[in-house]
Amino acid sequence: MRIAAHHIKGTKENDFSEMLHPSPAYEPTCAWPDDCMVQWGNGLIPATPFFEAFPVGTFIRGEAPTIAEAEQKAFEKYQRDLSCDHIWGRQRPGGSLYTNGAGWCRKCGGFRGKMFKPIVELGYLRKPLTRWERDWLENMETDHEMNAHMDRVYPNEINERLKSQRLLRVRLNLFGCAQ
Ligand SMILES: [Zn+2]
Repeated sequence: MRIAAHHIKGTKENDFSEMLHPSPAYEPTCAWPDDCMVQWGNGLIPATPFFEAFPVGTFIRGEAPTIAEAEQKAFEKYQRDLSCDHIWGRQRPGGSLYTNGAGWCRKCGGFRGKMFKPIVELGYLRKPLTRWERDWLENMETDHEMNAHMDRVYPNEINERLKSQRLLRVRLNLFGCAQ
């Protein structure tokens, strides 16, 4: 497993996090996969100890009276997910229908961030950029330091970032910018 940087002494994330609210010392005990990021805490409001894991493509959270029990709960969910013969749908259990591509399993409740193609309204790109989108495009086109940083931190998203930059540029050329 990969322990989230804010739990690791000496990182700038740890300095910052300790300044805001010290996180409890804890040593995970379950056999999370090597590339799975994990983090934990006691919760603020409400104060519910939690343990979160980010196996590739999903997110698992356990809550319990102690962090150790929360980790156990999260790990049981993860085991259920691994052994399930999933049936995916866009409906969040007990919640609404998501159109952004997220999916939940009807049998085990497992979650995937990118299970489906997002459902989009036809023509949704045929409109002027908002101010925020205009600023974002300008940053992407001119701030090479930021781009290099993003490429280092999120190497898997380089193509998606380039695609969104191209789409914003085409929209700006064709439809301009609102105000
Ligand atoms: Zn399932």
